[in-house]
Amino acid sequence: FHTEALRVIDTAETHLANNYNPLEVVVSRGEGSWVTDIEGKRYLDLLSAYSALNFGHGHPAILAVAQEQLNRLTLTSRAFHNDKLGIFAQALAALCGKDLVLPMNTGAEAVESGIKVARAWGYRVKGIPADAATVVVAHGNFHGRTTTIVGFSDDASARDDFGPFAPGFVQVPFADAAAIEAAIDDNTAAVLIEPIQGEAGVIIPPEGYLRAVREICTRRGVLMIADEIQAGLGRVGTTFACDREQVVPDMYLLGKALGGGIVPLSAVVANRDVLGVIQPGQHGSTFGGNPLAAAVGLRVVEMLESGEFQTRAAALGEHLETGLNALIGQGVTDVRVAGLWAGIDIDPALGTGREIAEKMLARGVLVKDTHGQTIRIAPPLVIRATEIDWAIEQLRVVLAG
Ligand code: PLP
Repeated sequence: FHTEALRVIDTAETHLANNYNPLEVVVSRGEGSWVTDIEGKRYLDLLSAYSALNFGHGHPAILAVAQEQLNRLTLTSRAFHNDKLGIFAQALAALCGKDLVLPMNTGAEAVESGIKVARAWGYRVKGIPADAATVVVAHGNFHGRTTTIVGFSDDASARDDFGPFAPGFVQVPFADAAAIEAAIDDNTAAVLIEPIQGEAGVIIPPEGYLRAVREICTRRGVLMIADEIQAGLGRVGTTFACDREQVVPDMYLLGKALGGGIVPLSAVVANRDVLGVIQPGQHGSTFGGNPLAAAVGLRVVEMLESGEFQTRAAALGEHLETGLNALIGQGVTDVRVAGLWAGIDIDPALGTGREIAEKMLARGVLVKDTHGQTIRIAPPLVIRATEIDWAIEQLRVVLAG
């Protein structure tokens, strides 16, 4: 390993809080599906910043609006209107088939905001007694890192020593609609789920689950909130993962790719009867809805309007799935694929997911392990079929030892 990279890593490790354990690569440039490290070595980026780079590094159409907006206006705060936010909200609401948008920055903020909106709806519209509202969530969930959110996670490393936690959440098994039905009572404001659980290892519920959740929520007068922060915006071959079952939730939570890989941009999107409960002074964010993010987000929405990226993700996803399935029994024990998103379970006899990720790095492919034995990949939607083939070949070689 080269001195320059070691020096950069040493500086980082000396001065950064130790909340991540990055692979030993120092990236300094990115273009499309590829990144280059400080020594000039190129890597195929199969992680895409956990789906935040759905359009790849430096997509020219997104870069162009960002650069133009950088030179004009970047921040006003919501104390004033800016000339980009309204048209962004109009376009995003239309993409979602909803009335209103609440812009925030990070995914966790969108989730927090969604919980606030759901509770306020519960008290002001549904008539739940004060401070009694509950939200049903799934085991194995990942919705972010704030104290309220980790309070309803069941990952010990996410929770331990960060309590006390906010009450008002009820956990049920994922992919079990009957458990949701049983958990709902008069005080339930919402059901919050990831339509496909990303961090858990790309766990795809059986067909019919999302439809059943939709039906239960409608019948019981409870909001269905879909956290599409990692799954949405083209990743799975449709605009939203809920589209796979033609399900429309009451509230979409969006983030990651919405910011085009350039700025943090997240949003709560819902109809007026839900999101309209929020009044001036009750919620906000200094950077939320800033004109730079809005300009980038508008371009992202425009890019999704044609369906081109969704179609690409669906077709290339099938290609990816075929290639990965061929590795089952050759070091891979299971594969779950939805569009260009896959969880690949590695045979423990061959090493941990982390060890496989390190060997893939040495062969020029960036992937990330999750939960011990699983490798998660989320290639940029601009990747080519030949690049997918090359990456799968690198995995085959790594697994063959
Ligand atoms: N929700 C889901 C489904 C996610 O996958 C993530 C991030 O991985 C988040 C929320 C949190 O997003 P952020 O890291 O931007 O706060």
